[in-house]
Amino acid sequence: MKYYDKLIFELSKEGRRGCSLPPDGWTGDLGDIPQNLRRQNRPALPQVSEPDAVRHYTCLSGMNFGVDNGFYPLGSCTMKYNPRINEEVASLPGFASVHPLQPDSTVQGCLQVYHELARALSSITGMEEFSFGPCAGAHGELTGLMIMRKYHISRNDLRRTKVIVPDSAHGTNPASAAVCGLQVVQVKSRPDGTIDVNDLKPLLDDTVAGIMMTNPNTLGLFETEIREIAELVHACGGLLYYDGANMNPLLGKVRPGDMGFDIMHLNLHKTFSTPHGGGGPGSGPVGVRAFLAGYLPCPRVLPDGKGGFRIGRDGELSAGRVSGFMGNFSVMVKALAYIWTLGKKNIRMAGPLSVLNANYVKESLKDSYRLPVDRLCKHEFVFDGLADASSGITALDVAKRLLDYGFHAPTIYFPLLFHQSIMIEPTETESKETLDGFIEAMRQIAREAAADPEMLRSAPHNTPVRRPDETLAATRPVLRYVPEVRTE
Ligand SMILES: *Cc1c(COP(=O)(O)O)cnc(C)c1O
Repeated sequence: MKYYDKLIFELSKEGRRGCSLPPDGWTGDLGDIPQNLRRQNRPALPQVSEPDAVRHYTCLSGMNFGVDNGFYPLGSCTMKYNPRINEEVASLPGFASVHPLQPDSTVQGCLQVYHELARALSSITGMEEFSFGPCAGAHGELTGLMIMRKYHISRNDLRRTKVIVPDSAHGTNPASAAVCGLQVVQVKSRPDGTIDVNDLKPLLDDTVAGIMMTNPNTLGLFETEIREIAELVHACGGLLYYDGANMNPLLGKVRPGDMGFDIMHLNLHKTFSTPHGGGGPGSGPVGVRAFLAGYLPCPRVLPDGKGGFRIGRDGELSAGRVSGFMGNFSVMVKALAYIWTLGKKNIRMAGPLSVLNANYVKESLKDSYRLPVDRLCKHEFVFDGLADASSGITALDVAKRLLDYGFHAPTIYFPLLFHQSIMIEPTETESKETLDGFIEAMRQIAREAAADPEMLRSAPHNTPVRRPDETLAATRPVLRYVPEVRTE
């Protein structure tokens, strides 16, 4: 029996125990807990031995695919290797055991981490000031847009409610704008995948709050006309927001501040060494140019004027509080440890290596897969299905079959510009041998598509879970163990 064949509830045997607890001295008196709040039945907790529990959890972890057990080419996600030393630094008791309500004087070292990280991110991005409140990339976007809005409102410029978003944008961009109460206006990409300046011009008037962009864009292409775009948007009174979730290709090379952007967020859990993907702690700090510093959310770490640091509270212009305290502190520690262990010289290698790896994979596979925009890419690129589409094999079939070869699937059906998008980001931390193994598997799948398409349609064949019914999983998800519902 594989332990994952059964749920832990199904391993349960009445009275079986994994540990014995000392008597708790409880007399059974429920005191004044009202009758209607008392449970009628005992909780249906599984009763298993310690080895059963250990094997259960170990098997579950083995069913999971992570960057620690295989290559993970997930485009727009930067699933790179996160050096262990940064975890170790973050778990030092001086960092891990502090409480956010401790007096400032007792946490000067932690406040200095925020200060040093803000300085490092400033020199990497060209944004003068940072706030660490936002706990995810999308949270950073919302915060940045709140700053943009507050800026216009504080200048009594009340008509600016439109945000321009390219059609290639990450889905969180229009979603954040909508959550912020702003109206999304789309600007089209040209066939070469970059923003069409001629399509942008007529959109620019005194109702535009700003534009949200990322550069290199979602197709991994550098928007070479960014300076002209920045001038046009500024000339109409709007601000430029930079989605810096994927800062990897730019590290130490190009700064959003120098491209003309005013506000941006970073995903510390993509670029700066915090593992992500399982809903763990994230961080989407927001940086702004100096003229917007007063709009940043508080609390923020500020110099106390005596050589130390203090926690600053909201000023009059501040966009407001966006989270309890100052975000996920352990993520800041890891980011600073990452930046400092690499140092200025080595951090400048991350971008070029991620670009080299992406172009190597792209060039090696463009005979087998359709490459809609054949240009030098940055850290990622997008195929549109197989070069030979006659078998009807879809991006989903390719992604599922890759699991059989021990690779995580790339991002598929995003961006929405193509019908069969397969978006690949190898990152800078993979060896040539790993990339060659991935390339060979992708070529093999293209050959299988021609020779045995039915086998691909029923892939994966070697994984504990095969092809779940995606519609059913989305419309009627079973999120809780109910014995009768289990079908498989
Ligand atoms: C990942 C990503 C986001 C969202 O980040 P979350 O932390 O998942 O909210 C936004 N924009 C781009 C371009 C991204 O790749």
